[in-house]
Amino acid sequence: MAASTADSAATSSPEGPEVFMPTTEERKRLLRGVIPRARRLGVDDTLRGWSWSAPPLLSPYEVPLGLSEVASAYCETGRDVYARRVLGTEPEPNEKMLLGGSLHGTLRDWVVHAKRSLYACGVGRIEEALERIRTFPAPELPEAKTLLQYETDAIEFRIREAMSQFPRIGTDAIVAQVLPVTLGQMLDGAFLGLSRRLSTDLLNLGEPVVLDIIFDDEKRSFHRLTLAGYALVLEAVYEFPVDVGLTVYAGFRDGRLRMEREFTVLGDEVRMEFIEARDEKQRMVAEAMDPGPCEGCEAWCGR
Ligand code: SF4
Repeated sequence: MAASTADSAATSSPEGPEVFMPTTEERKRLLRGVIPRARRLGVDDTLRGWSWSAPPLLSPYEVPLGLSEVASAYCETGRDVYARRVLGTEPEPNEKMLLGGSLHGTLRDWVVHAKRSLYACGVGRIEEALERIRTFPAPELPEAKTLLQYETDAIEFRIREAMSQFPRIGTDAIVAQVLPVTLGQMLDGAFLGLSRRLSTDLLNLGEPVVLDIIFDDEKRSFHRLTLAGYALVLEAVYEFPVDVGLTVYAGFRDGRLRMEREFTVLGDEVRMEFIEARDEKQRMVAEAMDPGPCEGCEAWCGR
């Protein structure tokens, strides 16, 4: 089986154009390095999402878990899933989850606002579009404020860059150029035995790239399972190959946004890892097997 490779393209300061947008250098590395390597490695056809009706992708249990329940291993034994699905306990969201949810929400609202401003004014009134983008109401949360300040400066730079590089660019094209993202795309995970209401973020760089923005967390080896899971679901639903994922780690220190972007080639190994985690957790729920607590519970878990 082909190896799956994490390809770190780290930036420790916010010099990239946007949280989710690779810099010109990263984009070049993606198009000339990561994507060709993904093609060379290839993916076994039985591990493409469209092969969902046969093993190993065929789900052996009728337990439609959420994708993050399968991919997340913050709780090493998976007891969080057991507690929710078997014991029916719904824990209060912790601080980390609340912060992440709020920042994701702010980012999604801002992207809609920025796209709407560009469409409303068109390239003919680009200065007015920039003015409108700046009118997005300042959020109360300091981290959200920092994030949006950064995004607003970054999009202004990208719009001016695109306008000078392509003076005759049209309105739809400039939106695709400066904001090539779909945040919160809804997907039916039933083909893979998952929840019917999944939602993912996508970056369109000529190829669809699954995007996972993680706020205020260190790198974890299981983060790439989320990318593999969504790639499998996208392939099952749309029948096109998805070979690359991007995890963006965004954190805040001294009022500054710090970022690191990591591309992952979604080869056989990480796909199989996701499927094994799915089977294991579905079995745990179907057979009501308590996996017991894990040894090193996250301090913030508190369940
Ligand atoms: S307290 Fe520990 S065992 Fe329980 S759900 Fe949290 S991480 Fe898992």
